[in-house]
Parts: sequence; structure tokens; C-alpha cells
Amino acid sequence: MTLNVGVIGVGMIGQEHINRLTNKLVGAKVVALSDVNARQAEETAAKLQGAKVYSTGEALIAAPEVQVVVVTSSGPTHEAYVLAAIKAGKLVFCEKPLATTAEACMRIVEAEIASGRHLVQVGFQRRYDKGYRALKKAIDDGVIGAPLMVHCAHRNPSVPEGYVSDMAIVDTFIHEIDALRWLINDDYVSAQVLVPRNTKHTHAKLDDPIIILLATKGGVRIDGEVFVNCRYGYDILCQVVGEEGVASLPEPESVLLRRDAKLSTTIMQDWKLRFIDSYDVELQDWIEAARAGKVNGPNAWDGYFAAVTADACLEAKRTGTVAPIVTPPRPAFYA
Ligand code: NAP
Repeated sequence: MTLNVGVIGVGMIGQEHINRLTNKLVGAKVVALSDVNARQAEETAAKLQGAKVYSTGEALIAAPEVQVVVVTSSGPTHEAYVLAAIKAGKLVFCEKPLATTAEACMRIVEAEIASGRHLVQVGFQRRYDKGYRALKKAIDDGVIGAPLMVHCAHRNPSVPEGYVSDMAIVDTFIHEIDALRWLINDDYVSAQVLVPRNTKHTHAKLDDPIIILLATKGGVRIDGEVFVNCRYGYDILCQVVGEEGVASLPEPESVLLRRDAKLSTTIMQDWKLRFIDSYDVELQDWIEAARAGKVNGPNAWDGYFAAVTADACLEAKRTGTVAPIVTPPRPAFYA
């Protein structure tokens, strides 16, 4: 059975996902598109055989030929579309963030629980990265014993002028927030943010770099660096220190060169290339699960927990204090 997919939002990541659904993955077909930028939706549809353009996301969700929905529109629009998909009883893959506030994420959690069906997956693709999966397996298999500390870094060569301080947390570190919680199977209880001297490459509205300290319920301490004007490349580092050893995220494959008296490898420049395989695996897995009427990946509770944690990080940075991360207990629905 080929799954008929409707995509809301045909911007940057929307185009990427439409391309993978159409040309790389199996079992799904993009049959409907919607975007506030109607011309862009029409132009995209013209390249797809038989895709229909809807003037609103709500109309797309209601369309009878649309079996499942992919939401790749801008963050502030996610809540309404995900709620509409839940109301229509359709499985929905929503790019991160699930919604832009913790309250909005909670409304989605409540609506999904009330529907009685697991319908929502959030686009935290790190969980599908080969390296992160190998790292998680080593931790889950007890190779390094109980995790005690995690050191990680998220570095970009540079960011555009419109990238401001909060984005380092809500758009960038949000990936670590979800991935690390999944990696060590623990929830966070507090956050603190340290702001070192700014790099000369930043601008007035961006503190860069920053260091985020998280503590977990199980007592693990995490330090995460976000440095988005590091100049040298796109670099994701993660090292988990356990009672019996240390496990590190593998470096992406690259030829090891011995030349001109130097031993070297290439460091990627582009986040899309770094995680390209994981996006493919993520969406293929979502299609397989959706064909069985299920959701396997990061769920609405994970989206909510990430939002609460990001809010606490923002608060901690604003106040210069340790901010508690408080949520209600995880509902049994998401056990
Ligand atoms: P983008 O290029 O700006 O694309 C978003 C598209 O949604 C634009 O075409 C925008 O139109 C459209 N849009 C705005 N409001 C809409 C509405 N009410 N209904 C339908 N479409 C609407 O942004 P992007 O970079 O693709 O990001 C989209 C989402 O994906 C964001 O939430 C982002 O955080 C997420 N994302 C995730 C990853 C990841 O690694 N998982 C990577 C990149 C992006 P206009 O331009 O005319 O406003």
C-alpha cells in the first residue's frame, strides 16, 4: 500500500522532505501541498505528478485523499496543524518544534491522549543518526557502565544576521535537549547557562558561544557548548563518561589523508549533509510505522519535554540562576 502524504510548508526543509518522499524513500507519495506562499506550492506541485494544492493547511488535512500529514511550515503554525490532524484522526509528522510554547505542546499532548490514538511524531532526526544509534547501543548494553557525565558541543561555522541569542537554545541546542535525554534515558531537572566572552565574529543580538549545564533526575551532569560562529566547520561532538569507560559519538566518515607532512580528515560545513542519512531513515521509519497505523519515533510528550527544557534554559540565561525543569508526571499513554 502506498501512503498518500499531504505536506504543509514547502520552504527549505519542506522541499527536502518532499524530495526524499518522492525520489529516495519507498511506500509514500506526496499527493497534496499547501503553503501561505501559494506560488511556491504551485511550482512545487508542478514537479510532482498529480499533487493537488490546497489554499489552507486545514483544507489539506481534511482532504479525503490525504492519509497522513507532514508539517514543515514555520514553527508558530505547527500547533494549529497538528491539532487539526489529531481532530481528523490522521497521523502527523511535525518538524521540530512541536509548538513554540510548552503550553501549546501540552494542548497537543492533551488532544492526542483524548483521541486515544498515537498520531504525532516530532522531527528530532538525531535519534536516527547512525553514530548516535551506535552510541546509544553502547550505553544501553552497559559497555561504559552507568553514565555519570555528558560533554557535548554544537558548532556551526557561521549563522545569518537574523539568528539571535534565543535561537541558540530553541533552534540549535533543542536537538541536544532531545537527543541526550533519549541517549541516557533520563529526564532533566534543572538548567543553567554560562555566557563566556563573545567571539569577535558574533553580532550585537547574539551571545556566542554559550554553555548550557543540565542536571538529570538520575544525577547525570551535562555540559553543552553552543558555538555558532566557530568558523572552522559544522561539528557535533558528544562524549558520555560512565563508571566503566567513556563512549564518544563517532566522527562522520571521511578519508584519512597523509599528505604534505600532515595527517588530516575533512570537517563538514553543512548541517544538512551531516544529518542527511538520518532524515532519510527517520522518514522511512515513519512511513513504515504509519502504514501499520503506528508511531515509533519521538512523540508529543518528547516535544513537550523539549519545550519545557528550552524554556528553562532561556529563563536560566535571563536570570543567571539555576532554573528548575518541572513537568507533570509522564502520562501512562506515553509510557
Ligand atoms: P522556511 O524555509 O521558512 O519554510 C517554511 C514555509 O512555511 C515557508 O514557505 C513559509 O512561507 C510557510 N508558511 C508560513 N506560515 C504558513 C502557514 N500558516 N501555513 C502554511 N505554510 C506556511 O523554514 P524551514 O527552514 O523549512 O523550517 C520549517 C520548520 O522545520 C521549522 O519549524 C524548523 O525549525 C524546522 N526545521 C527542522 C530541521 C531539523 O533539523 N529537524 C531543519 C530545518 C528546519 P513564507 O516563507 O511565505 O512565510
